[in-house]
Amino acid sequence: MPVLVMKFGGTSVATLDRIKRAAKRVGLEVAKGYDVIVIVSAMSGKTNELVGWVNETSPLYDAREYDAVVSSGENVTAGLMALTLQEMGVPARSWQGWQVPVKTTAAHANARIEDIPPENISSKFAEGMKVAVVAGFQGISPEGRITTLGRGGSDTTAVAFAAAFDADRCDIYTDVDGVYTTDPRISQKARKLHKISFEEMLELASLGAKVLQTRSVELAMRYKVKLRVLSSFEEPSDEAGTLVCDEEDTMENRPVSGIAYSRDEAKMTLISVADRPGIAAAIFGPLSEAGVNVDMIIQNISEEGRTDMTFSCPIDQVLRAQKALNGAKEKGDINFHDLIADTDVCKVSAVGIGMRSQSGVAAKMFKTLSDEGINIKVIATSEIKISVLIDRKYLELAVQSLHDAFELEKTA
Ligand code: ASP
Ligand code: MG
Repeated sequence: MPVLVMKFGGTSVATLDRIKRAAKRVGLEVAKGYDVIVIVSAMSGKTNELVGWVNETSPLYDAREYDAVVSSGENVTAGLMALTLQEMGVPARSWQGWQVPVKTTAAHANARIEDIPPENISSKFAEGMKVAVVAGFQGISPEGRITTLGRGGSDTTAVAFAAAFDADRCDIYTDVDGVYTTDPRISQKARKLHKISFEEMLELASLGAKVLQTRSVELAMRYKVKLRVLSSFEEPSDEAGTLVCDEEDTMENRPVSGIAYSRDEAKMTLISVADRPGIAAAIFGPLSEAGVNVDMIIQNISEEGRTDMTFSCPIDQVLRAQKALNGAKEKGDINFHDLIADTDVCKVSAVGIGMRSQSGVAAKMFKTLSDEGINIKVIATSEIKISVLIDRKYLELAVQSLHDAFELEKTA
């Protein structure tokens, strides 16, 4: 039997009624002849509540117990989904991560899936079970402790199962009906994309288009898992949602597919560091050890052997970055006159695989921002992305004007 993976996010299993609605969708796919693996999230808001309880109990918590607590939301929805399917007459049972087993690394709260042996579930399918409901977001470490995969991790669970079971497709049911050219809350002209390439989705996901966990897209790209993002609140149809697929399968060749943003960025500048070989390593080494996700970097021209170094990072990592850099200064590893944090910035990015072959995208982006009087503070580019750091108060204006400039409302 062909296998289909269906993942239901927190809003799709938020109440018993919604679980019923999701189960009906599963029933439709079973009727088409699929063996279905259902991956469930916790009911929406549940994981936040559990994280809150852990923090309240033990601010410097033992991550193994954090995982024991926060993984529990998925256990509840997995059991309820299996019961609902059974009530509909569909042979189903639930599996917690360790029962499958979903083998992960021991990096608690942020573990990676290493292996999913398919035998246990496959043998149940062979016996006539139609649906395996698996608790998303969780696994088991080599030491036999419960792990979780990082927030939003059940997307990654779903893709990993699709790869392990060579599924025809991995459908991700969420509360939005697909991937948009930009955030519809910011531009009313945002359009749903019918198809998008893995590469573009990866950029959009990591840039803060929160539809899919970034790692799930990386995994889908590596194993060529066909992903579909769709809403569980829309009527079922073959046209529903957005298909995330290989570049060759996305026929259109638009220069820009989407405008992404990340609201909470910070710009950090080290004033007057010695411009010598190894200085970048001496600065970014401690930052990386401190877990700071450095994104854009610029080193200014140097004068008399000294230079300024600027980088961006998420705003909630500013304190950690300051601690790491001041620590390195105290140890004498680096020397700087001042460390300035600008926490009023955001990042806006244009993403599109068409950029590889079409020139002028950057020029158009900069001209558009300049026409709006928006000052660009830092620029970074990759093959398929151009990002700028600008004042946060211009975020909406920048997104809207770029969406207009690249005519994304005409995207079909
Ligand atoms: N329940 C987990 C979270 O809220 C995992 C997920 O839903 O993907 O992060
Ligand atoms: Mg999610």
